[in-house]
Amino acid sequence: MSETQIAQEAALRRTFAIISHPDAGKTTITEKMLLFGNAIQLAGSVKSKRAERHATSDWMKMEQERGISVTTSVMQFPYNDRIVNLLDTPGHEDFSEDTYRTLTAVDSALMVIDGAKGVEDRTVKLMEVCRLRTTPILTFINKMDRETRDPIEVMDEIETVLNIQCAPMTWPIGMGRAFKGVYHLYNDVIHLYKQGQGNRIPDDKRIEGLDSPEVDALLGESAAEELRMEIELVRGASHEFDLEAYRRGELTPVYFGTAMGNFGVREMLDGFVEFAPAPQPRETDAREVIADDGRFTGFVFKIQANMDPKHRDRVAFLRICSGKYERNMKMRHVRIGKDVKIADALTFMASDRAHVEEAWPGDIIGLHNHGTIQIGDTFSAGEEMRFVGIPHFAPELFRRVRLRDPLKMKALQKGLQQLSEEGATQVFMPLDNNDLIVGAVGTLQFDVVAHRLKEEYKVDCIYEAVNVNTARWIYCQDAKKLDEFKRKASTNLALDGGDYLTYLAPTRVNLQMTQERWPEIEFRATREH
Ligand code: GDP
Repeated sequence: MSETQIAQEAALRRTFAIISHPDAGKTTITEKMLLFGNAIQLAGSVKSKRAERHATSDWMKMEQERGISVTTSVMQFPYNDRIVNLLDTPGHEDFSEDTYRTLTAVDSALMVIDGAKGVEDRTVKLMEVCRLRTTPILTFINKMDRETRDPIEVMDEIETVLNIQCAPMTWPIGMGRAFKGVYHLYNDVIHLYKQGQGNRIPDDKRIEGLDSPEVDALLGESAAEELRMEIELVRGASHEFDLEAYRRGELTPVYFGTAMGNFGVREMLDGFVEFAPAPQPRETDAREVIADDGRFTGFVFKIQANMDPKHRDRVAFLRICSGKYERNMKMRHVRIGKDVKIADALTFMASDRAHVEEAWPGDIIGLHNHGTIQIGDTFSAGEEMRFVGIPHFAPELFRRVRLRDPLKMKALQKGLQQLSEEGATQVFMPLDNNDLIVGAVGTLQFDVVAHRLKEEYKVDCIYEAVNVNTARWIYCQDAKKLDEFKRKASTNLALDGGDYLTYLAPTRVNLQMTQERWPEIEFRATREH
């Protein structure tokens, strides 16, 4: 395989996810981007297609009933000669661990902010996760067709709360009913907004130049003068776009618009494919992997069950980091030390999955998984190396699992083991007793686990409260100290699904005191795979 071809294909890829607070407009903007990518004919069809597909799947019924999206999917579409890979993340915070891990597989993120609400909780949290890898962030301030807050105030809030500089790229002309369009600060073009173009690609009606008499005709002379002064003020008071600062995660280019009105999205997408980074280098325990490298590598960041209800299969989502995937190629499944032939990987063109002949760095392929693949697994062209930085996050909620039928213990253990390998839950087995404790980031995860245990493993279980407040993974270089700790603290110690030693703290105070008493022991809030 020629490395030049790989470098060329990699350079075209833009792999990203959206971070936002629920209701800011993530779903809507996703639909509009697919519309621009010609991946769907009419916006709105993404949702209905999803609903149709899920209607036949039992456990996804739960998702429908609650109106949330449990699944993470991948959508690929072309835009301006680039290939965009959008990794969707669950909207509900109960599934935030999936979201966190998906963010490890992207090269940049799009932050969608509701112009009326400004920076909200979940955005703050997701931004923290992006910071772990200094992911570049591009911002879209949405819902300008409504009465929003003063755009300058919203940018100030982003700067202070999220600690990132804002560089406005477009600027809104009016808002709500008086929303007229956006002015592109770098091209000196006004793009005019017309209502009712949400379901198709809007015509790009423009006025070239802020000083054009057409602006006066559009707004009236005094309003046009006001706009010119406002723009001057904005230029003076805000940061100028700086590509390097954006790539370092220190500055975010900001675009304004309305996802529902399908307006401002095109300007944002134009900027996104131009500025967002192509597949970035990634760390492994052996060497840094560069996308252009001819040797195939990738890692699994997500496992999803029952995507196709007819097959009840599990799909492992693998992010290609270097090299090329070709149908029927062999790859090394590094953790189990085996070469496997992958004949039927899936790709994700918009909302349909299809079989791929080839795929490139930045692309996501789906591998059929019959229980041998875990989150964090590395696949290579034979090389012994593992990608790092795809952590488990300490759960925040815990339950003891009890069987209705005690004879089903084996099936329960197997089910929990597999569900924890998929990342659906985390399981802990105390050193001192035979309890099985499950941990999650959100309560809904427990429902999903109970449901899947019943459907897939025929195990009926109930949850009981358990006196655990938080978990920490235990590391210690000093074997003697570790032994002593294991003896003295055994009542609070457990092994997790991957056989890692974990401290289950009944209270925060207990955790703090234990940490003070055992300074040689490390208590980590994340666990590498
Ligand atoms: P998500 O929860 O972030 O995926 O948000 P959705 O895309 O589902 O949008 C939440 C609500 O806001 C829906 O009722 C949308 O129709 C509405 N919405 C999204 N974008 C806009 C917009 O630009 N203007 C207005 N007025 N409403 C919008």
